[in-house]
Parts: sequence; structure tokens; C-alpha cells
Amino acid sequence: MQLAILIVLILIAVLIAPWLIGVAIAAAAVYGVYLVAAAALAGVAFVVAVIWVLFIDKGRKEKPEEIHGERKSCRHCQVEMAVSATHCKNCGQSCT
Ligand SMILES: [Zn+2]
Repeated sequence: MQLAILIVLILIAVLIAPWLIGVAIAAAAVYGVYLVAAAALAGVAFVVAVIWVLFIDKGRKEKPEEIHGERKSCRHCQVEMAVSATHCKNCGQSCT
């Protein structure tokens, strides 16, 4: 009985206010676009995070050694390194 009333109400709504369907379709379209945009954004954020962790963050960890303390230049390629370094990181030559 309740189902019949619900169906009648839906039929009345569809017959009297057809624009409700348009609104529903528009809402679904907006929601769909929102979902696609959110998924794309999440994907891009994930790729950026992976690239950041794999490449940029690794490079950052290697830098403090060069920044702290005194530096010296490689006599073969002139690249700066820590005074305590025994081999050049750039050309691999001994610098003792
Ligand atoms: Zn060198």
C-alpha cells in the first residue's frame, strides 16, 4: 500500500514538475564531474607524492653533508665537498 502511494506520488511529481528530472540529471552530472575531478586530483597528488619521495626527498638527505663544516674543492673537477671526504663524489678521484 505504501509502495503504491509512493509510486503515485512519483508519477504526480514527474507529471506536474518535469523540471525535477532536469534538476536530478543536472545534479547527477555535477556530482559526476565532481567525482571525476576529485579522482583526477587524488591521482595527480599521489603521483607528485611518489615523485617527491623517490627523487626530491632523496636529494635533500644527501645535501646536509655538503652544507655543514668546511669545504674543499676537488683538484680534478673543482666540485666542492666536505673537508673530511677522501674521494670526490663527482669524478671518483682520490682527494687526500
Ligand atoms: Zn672531482
